[in-house]
Amino acid sequence: MSNTIQAIRGMNDILPEQIHRWQQLEAIVQEWLAAWGYREIRTPIVEQVSLFKRAIGEVTDIVEKEMYAFTDSLNGDQLALRPEGTAACVRAVIQHNLLYNATQRLWYAGPMFRHERPQKGRYRQFHQFGIEALGFADPDMDAEHIVMTADLWQRLGLHGIELEINTLGDSDARLRYRTRLIGWFEQHADLLDDDAKRRLHSNPLRILDSKNPAMQSMIEAAPKLLDDLNDRSVQHFATVQRIAGAQGVSFRINPRLVRGLDYYNDTVFEWVSHHLGAQSTVCAGGRYDGLIGQIGGKPAPACGFAMGIERLLDILDACQVQSPVAAPDVYLVHAGEAAEQMAWGIARDLRQTGLHVIRHCGGGSFKSQMKKADASGALYACIIGDEEAATGSLTLKNLRSGAAQTTLPLTDAITRLINKERS
Ligand code: ATP
Ligand code: MG
Repeated sequence: MSNTIQAIRGMNDILPEQIHRWQQLEAIVQEWLAAWGYREIRTPIVEQVSLFKRAIGEVTDIVEKEMYAFTDSLNGDQLALRPEGTAACVRAVIQHNLLYNATQRLWYAGPMFRHERPQKGRYRQFHQFGIEALGFADPDMDAEHIVMTADLWQRLGLHGIELEINTLGDSDARLRYRTRLIGWFEQHADLLDDDAKRRLHSNPLRILDSKNPAMQSMIEAAPKLLDDLNDRSVQHFATVQRIAGAQGVSFRINPRLVRGLDYYNDTVFEWVSHHLGAQSTVCAGGRYDGLIGQIGGKPAPACGFAMGIERLLDILDACQVQSPVAAPDVYLVHAGEAAEQMAWGIARDLRQTGLHVIRHCGGGSFKSQMKKADASGALYACIIGDEEAATGSLTLKNLRSGAAQTTLPLTDAITRLINKERS
């Protein structure tokens, strides 16, 4: 029996050999966000439970079953690890009065926590980045989010991600629809599972989201919200579609798309990839004009979306988008006291030119050091022995080209390293 301590189920280490994929993705994403004029906001990972209850809704999977909530043993506060980013972002915007005479285009990134059954694409600690545009009422902002996501797929070289959109209308429309929907489900009460029965009066729209095969055809035939929309919502939705279409983004209207959280109105959308199997949604969002008022701010319209980074990486894999492996440019091999002294200085000089340099630590024979140089993935081994130290030269070996090693005067050698010449 091993008594080593393991990471918590569903919470993963990201190891050094995986990290370059993350960093490369993050770099592209950050460049894309800057290109669209969004600024980063960082909020704490822990918030009051009441924030999530108010923002996400009490009768949602997240709040009912998935939230890591706990009592602060020192003062009894009810706290939770954030299950998503929007609530905290909006809390911070209200707290710091960021909408005073202003609009905001914000983004966030980081770990989120949900107590779900771990499987591919579904973890207990996972990572999202998301954006929130606050203070924008018009449909051109909903469209901006759709068009900018399509731009990201292009920047990443991804294909086969499809857009589904729907509208939830305003709260009046949803109220009218709710009544019709409850009526429909009551007529088919014998088909409802326990979750659906529980939600029948508290959150009947969520029943549309059910994956239970036994309920599918009944849900398919249920009344559609589109019939309850007022003119403004119809117009809003039409404009979003018109702009998206004009910008070359194709989509499918999915009347069953209601999103898992309570706070949405009007436009909702999901980007779905067939590469992902059951966990097919990589990006989801929409408009949430009621949320800011709901958590105590001066009401203001808003919309946003969030993406799952692990799922995005899975799609990158499936599309065989390669990322370069992060390896040092130079591994400095040295033996002898004078050589060691020189190695410190050369390493410093090379780093100042922008090269990534590992100076061998721990001594050992040239042969064993050369093995380590090779294993490090470095392009060059740069070798300093007694002779190089005495003459002020460097011996270079390109570890990837198979060329023979060569000894050069210091400045020539450094030039060759900076230019990353093949031999
Ligand atoms: P799902 O229907 O897959 O449970 P969701 O509706 O709960 O997703 P959102 O709250 O909208 O998801 O989160 C936005 C995105 O974050 C999802 O589209 C997905 O890419 C990612 N995501 C959500 N939950 C997880 C999880 N447990 N593990 C990994 N990624 C997740
Ligand atoms: Mg979920």
